[in-house]
Amino acid sequence: MDKDFSLRELNTFGFDVKARYFQELKTMDDVRELIKNPEFIACRNATVSRLLVLSGGSNILFSSEFFDGFVVYPNLKGIEVLEETAETVKIRCYCGEVWKDFVDYTVAHNLYGLENLADIPGKVGAAPVQNIGAYGTEVKDTIHQVHTIDLTTGETKVFSNEECRFSYRNSIFKTTKNHLIFAVDFILKKHGDLKLDYGNIRNYLIANNITNPTLQDIAATVKAIRAEKLPEVGVVGSVGSFFQNAIVPVDKYQEIKGLYPEVPYYQVEIPPLPSVGRNDKLIKIPSGWLIDRAGWKGYRENHVGVWDKQALVLVHYGGGQPQEILDLMKKIQDSVKTKFGVDIKPEVNIV
Ligand SMILES: Cc1cc2nc3c(=O)[nH]c(=O)nc-3n(C[C@H](O)[C@H](O)[C@H](O)COP(=O)(O)OP(=O)(O)OC[C@H]3O[C@@H](n4cnc5c(N)ncnc54)[C@H](O)[C@@H]3O)c2cc1C
Repeated sequence: MDKDFSLRELNTFGFDVKARYFQELKTMDDVRELIKNPEFIACRNATVSRLLVLSGGSNILFSSEFFDGFVVYPNLKGIEVLEETAETVKIRCYCGEVWKDFVDYTVAHNLYGLENLADIPGKVGAAPVQNIGAYGTEVKDTIHQVHTIDLTTGETKVFSNEECRFSYRNSIFKTTKNHLIFAVDFILKKHGDLKLDYGNIRNYLIANNITNPTLQDIAATVKAIRAEKLPEVGVVGSVGSFFQNAIVPVDKYQEIKGLYPEVPYYQVEIPPLPSVGRNDKLIKIPSGWLIDRAGWKGYRENHVGVWDKQALVLVHYGGGQPQEILDLMKKIQDSVKTKFGVDIKPEVNIV
């Protein structure tokens, strides 16, 4: 166990945060040892939890420069083919594998399902937590089951896809913080349909004279489009999309459409929540569009700002403090609320 450990390399915002306690876990025995550690037990049992499971730190914003608690860094490695049929391959991938390398592995082996999720930062163990998604694909569609160990009891539990309760940028693991995910089983297809109708994929293929795209072409296209649009990890600090897309009742969408006929939208597939009341449909509006229309794209204030190529991305240019991002977040939320009457929520985990 390390004390006062610097997390600067372990959060893609690049803030110089220190953790009171830090422990890397490379094996299941390391996990079992950890849960006997007195400092760990004290932090886990504190009234307000002072325990954080940290992987790539690409979806975490530390709210101050000192994390007065215990950071657990699961780093179990390995990729195993478990089962193969004429149509599918079942693969187990351990939590410490880098997500984009795992996607590259599947694409190189001609396995369909993860190609649109190429180049998302972070580790495999975090992918189920917020059900990562991009370009019309969510990881839930390829996850067979998730292997966890309870950080309170040391018991292992396997969650079926259904038990993970996946939804848009959400799963059971976002709220039940005591489950450490140590491996994920995926079922990938040997033959599949490519998803071209999201973002700029089709336009990019046309512009590059690719008429009959392969699986490898799609992964390469997604990488190229992402590289044009998003800050490069390690160069400009960010967590990708800082906010979730807004989900609004149909009459709110129509009110906005009355003023801005060009407002983009998507039907929401999840059943409406009872709290939504008489509206029987929900509409998703890209928060990037709302933030852009509220005038924030390219805004900069001292060490932080809004990325000029994608308004959903807040950036840290270096030398700043987490509070600057929190202040900017609040200003943007207030301005979107004033202009459109819509609340936008952070996608990032603020700890
Ligand atoms: C430039 C950029 C682009 C991005 N693009 C996308 C995108 O297109 N789509 C998308 O969905 N996300 C995107 N993200 C966000 C991020 O990459 C994903 O959410 C990723 O899955 C986070 O992985 P991580 O390993 O960095 O997790 P961390 O940030 O370390 O953790 C994220 C959450 O998962 C928990 N967690 C981490 N590991 C485990 C584990 N083993 N067991 C249990 N809980 C765990 C943490 O406690 C935390 O709550 C982007 C981020 C950046 C910086």
